[in-house]
Amino acid sequence: MDRLVSTAIPPVQPWQLATIVAVRQETPNAKTFQLNVAGPHNFVAGQHFIIRLTADDGYHAQRAYSAASPPGQEPLEITVERLPGGEVSTFLHDGVDVGDMVDIRGPIGGHFAWDVSAPILGIAGGSGVAPLMSMLRAARAAGRSDYMTLVVSARSPRDLYYADEITGPRTRVAYTRTAPPGDPRGVGRLTMEDLAPMVHVRQQAFVCGSPAFCDAATMLLDSLGVPAYDIRVERFGPSG
Ligand SMILES: Cc1cc2nc3c(=O)[nH]c(=O)nc-3n(C[C@H](O)[C@H](O)[C@H](O)COP(=O)(O)OP(=O)(O)OC[C@H]3O[C@@H](n4cnc5c(N)ncnc54)[C@H](O)[C@@H]3O)c2cc1C
Repeated sequence: MDRLVSTAIPPVQPWQLATIVAVRQETPNAKTFQLNVAGPHNFVAGQHFIIRLTADDGYHAQRAYSAASPPGQEPLEITVERLPGGEVSTFLHDGVDVGDMVDIRGPIGGHFAWDVSAPILGIAGGSGVAPLMSMLRAARAAGRSDYMTLVVSARSPRDLYYADEITGPRTRVAYTRTAPPGDPRGVGRLTMEDLAPMVHVRQQAFVCGSPAFCDAATMLLDSLGVPAYDIRVERFGPSG
């Protein structure tokens, strides 16, 4: 044997060029970007990509963004929340338009991924809904809408991502600040009462959002008897 080769470490995927082909204002603070990726980028719903921006002087900044579109659908979609003072998210919002190109690498992440093979419960806060929207779209495309139950926490109706698509008999929206007129739930953070009817034995839960949101949702699931091994969490904290 000439040399040892480790099979445990996956090869680093190469950077590829992606062209922005459409930009949509998703909510007042979020934009959805459609990207044409030059090379192969097959992914499983829930996985994310790394987007890299390069300045004229060669300075790079890169961040993780989840696929929001379902696997197999082109162009690839990501949704980016604008964080005040955030280096990459503000540039994507204010400095990037149709025709611009970015570097992309991925897909990444095997833990927070779902292949529509068994029913799941998704719980999302804010931009954490992006990978769960990919899952919901994948379930619908596979004719298995019944496999995906979704609980989304949003500040107000105008802060609800994918508003014209996300609603349905298995989606529940918990508004934290302003609810639509007549919403019997009223406003407030997610509670046990919100989740209890959605939780089923031996069903995996996928939780995504800010670290604080993920911790709160995980504690609620724990209180409702969902074992830790059935809870998968993606924290949208700082990345680079
Ligand atoms: C696996 C993964 C997937 C992700 N997918 C998405 C996605 O689909 N859509 C999306 O909008 N974001 C997503 N994120 C978050 C994203 O990668 C960036 O962290 C985010 O866009 C902020 O980058 P920035 O350069 O604008 O802010 P930075 O310049 O990095 O940070 C600015 C300030 O905001 C704080 N901060 C950084 N990130 C966050 C955050 N997410 N929430 C609150 N405060 C933060 C920092 O601590 C700092 O104080 C994901 C993160 C991970 C780890």
